[in-house]
Amino acid sequence: MTRTEPEGPRRPPVAAAVPRGRAATGGRQRWQQVVVATLAIAVLVAVSQSAARSATASEPVELVAASIEPRPTPNVLRQQPTSVDARNEVEALLAADETRQERERAAEEAEAAEQARADAEEPEPEPEPERPAYAKPAEGRFTSGFGARWGSTHNGIDIANSIGTPILAVTEGTVVEAGPASGFGLWVQLRHDDGTVTVYGHMDRILVGEGQRVSTGEQIATMGNRGQSTGPHLHFEVWQGGQTPIDPVPWLAERGISVG
Ligand SMILES: [Zn+2]
Repeated sequence: MTRTEPEGPRRPPVAAAVPRGRAATGGRQRWQQVVVATLAIAVLVAVSQSAARSATASEPVELVAASIEPRPTPNVLRQQPTSVDARNEVEALLAADETRQERERAAEEAEAAEQARADAEEPEPEPEPERPAYAKPAEGRFTSGFGARWGSTHNGIDIANSIGTPILAVTEGTVVEAGPASGFGLWVQLRHDDGTVTVYGHMDRILVGEGQRVSTGEQIATMGNRGQSTGPHLHFEVWQGGQTPIDPVPWLAERGISVG
């Protein structure tokens, strides 16, 4: 019976078992806690990596948007309105550029128009259209006037100069006669647009042909000494209405030409 062990002493093993059992129980709980913690860390890492990936992916878009968008915009609205605003801004810039190009083009056109107008005005002061309608038939010395002379009628005037002196059409007209004529040696008749005929005599050479159109001051012949002539000169007549000889001096004077 000495081996009988009191109730008490038997307790320690029980009591010891309790802590043992409690220790085992505590070990399982710690293991579970470790597993849970590990899982939680793994989940957190995965989530944070995913978040980092998504943040990295969206970052350039937000940077671009921030550089274009001057006003702070709520995150939710940032993506869509930013692209619209950016497009609007680009369109505004393009429109402004287009306007600038149009303005430059308009300026260039205005400059070209101004230049063209200046070029067009340039020749206007030139007296091209105001070219004299009448010309002196020949340069030289006035030797004889219209009228009675030596018992006959002198139907024209005489202008003396050297042989070969140019003889000019007093005004524009058409050659109606060009060749030999009694007393004149050689002559030329021009019919003008008002019906007047001018006659040129004693010439050395004739430079125009019948039917030819001549202009004011155009050379039609050279001065000579042919026919009834006492020296190289031009005999010049004016036939009013193409028939009646009149004094050429006042007729020419009315037209701004002095031969006297
Ligand atoms: Zn004469």
